[in-house]
Amino acid sequence: MYRTHTCGELRASHAGQTVTLAGWVNRRRDHGGVAFFDLRDRAGIIQITINPDLPKEMLEQVANVRNEWVLQIEGVVQKRPEGMANPKMETGEIEVIAKTVTVLNPSKTPPFMVNTDNDLPDENMRLKYRYVDLRRERLTRNIVLRHKVIKFMRDYLDTQGFIEIETPIMFKATPEGARDYLVPSRIYPGQFYALPQSPQQLKQLLMVAGMDKYFQIARCFRDEDLRGDRQPEFTQLDLEMSYVHRDDVLALVEGLFTEMIPVVAPNKKLFSSPWPKFSYKEVLERFGTDKPDLRFGMELIDVSEIFAKSEFKVFQSALSAGGVVKCIVAPKSAEMSRKEVDALTESARGLGAKGLATLAIQAEGPKGTAAKFVTVAEVAEVKSKTGAKDGDLILFAADARAIVNKVLGGLRVVLRDKLDLADKTMMAFAWVVDFPFFAFNEETQAWESEHHPFTMPKMDDLQKFDTNPGEVYSDAYDMVCNGYETASGSIRIHRRDIQMKMFQMLGLSDEEIQTKFGHMLEAFEYGAPPHGGMAPGIDRLVMLLADEPNIREVIAFPKNQAGRDVMADAPSEVEPKQLKELHIQIRE
Ligand code: ASP
Repeated sequence: MYRTHTCGELRASHAGQTVTLAGWVNRRRDHGGVAFFDLRDRAGIIQITINPDLPKEMLEQVANVRNEWVLQIEGVVQKRPEGMANPKMETGEIEVIAKTVTVLNPSKTPPFMVNTDNDLPDENMRLKYRYVDLRRERLTRNIVLRHKVIKFMRDYLDTQGFIEIETPIMFKATPEGARDYLVPSRIYPGQFYALPQSPQQLKQLLMVAGMDKYFQIARCFRDEDLRGDRQPEFTQLDLEMSYVHRDDVLALVEGLFTEMIPVVAPNKKLFSSPWPKFSYKEVLERFGTDKPDLRFGMELIDVSEIFAKSEFKVFQSALSAGGVVKCIVAPKSAEMSRKEVDALTESARGLGAKGLATLAIQAEGPKGTAAKFVTVAEVAEVKSKTGAKDGDLILFAADARAIVNKVLGGLRVVLRDKLDLADKTMMAFAWVVDFPFFAFNEETQAWESEHHPFTMPKMDDLQKFDTNPGEVYSDAYDMVCNGYETASGSIRIHRRDIQMKMFQMLGLSDEEIQTKFGHMLEAFEYGAPPHGGMAPGIDRLVMLLADEPNIREVIAFPKNQAGRDVMADAPSEVEPKQLKELHIQIRE
């Protein structure tokens, strides 16, 4: 037996017991002939005390021990002497007095310290030695949290009558708006499997198959440009239900997360329960984005009417071109320096604004770039409409509605971080519903599905398909949290004629429809039940629960920001023989 206990589980109640532990040396200290090791395993860290009365050979061995060596310790648990307890450690009331120390394996000097998160090395270095990096308490905690989240999902969905079903990784292209990863076939020259961008088609086919309620902890593969927080593969809780309306799906998912948070992350609080529900239109008007952070106010307020007769050219020209004037109020920010306001103006420009008008509300009269151009009456009306008080800074955007919303929505987030407005213990979940069915792609000058092509349009909007696609809304919904989209889903099309129409609208020829999606259309002819579902993203949710800045910190072996696995060095070249077997020739 290598061990009787884990390092992290021992407490004062174990005092007097002889235990055997195994783990890594987290830190070593020597004090007047006595050596102290902090021994670490997944469960935690405990102090081992090595007194000079141990046999000489053992002490000689101990003298060599360094950080990250793997030791087995047999010893007696003892309460630490009065005043020596360490309240920062869970095992801080006790120590283990070693009787024998066995070196199970030495370690080279690790490439970086794992016993502190100060001075973190370059991320590529961490990923190259990920197996060392993961020993960090913080990362271990994240991986354990991820396990708890997934376990809770499985248990909860089981109680709700769901069954877990695996679907193939090697399948056919399933569009979710990204490029496919392809797997060449050796047996069928020139033919390819596609890795699913999500199990969307398969879960729908499981509904046709009568599986009723399905879920899967599903890996999704999307070959997208690697910006920000994307990974080429990521994990979703994929689920689908038969004979449901939108609100049945929302209630199920809301119940899951409402019950999960106190269990897996007791330090987090739900911002509101039940979760608020906004239409897509409303959320854009009020927060300037379809993934609002609701942990703070600062909503966008339309002041177009107040400035209808304004002399201020910037406002006037936006309004006369059919645009709007809206504002947000940054609390206690009237004293912001010129430099700070310039930085906000730069952010606004980056978001598409021509500039930024500001009013710093002060008892002695407003200051800011708009102060000279607005009347006393206008300022009074703006104050009364927005509730702005002396000491606040009002930021205005005047332009076409979509631009104004985007600019102020973006500034709202910039100000959130600058002014520290969001309570980090809060999980502010909300629903966004009633999305437009199509989005017009200016580049390709074609309509695309806003969600994915299997989403059901609102039945009342069906007749607008041909005449006014931009006015067709869908039964799609997003779950958002703290400014992130954390899930999306929809009620699906289950009728062949509607699905056909959808593909045609997306510009697919009848032949393409047949080769790409013939199996789906055919399935819809064999008694497809009404169904719907959604897919919460597990990486992002765990990231939020763990207070991490990016999803790589909650994935055991992520790709780096350039999409490479720097530990195993992938992607990499393969043997010419393999290429030949796959009928592939690399062009220089
Ligand atoms: N397949 C969708 C996605 O991956 C989710 C869903 O509609 O259930 O975003």
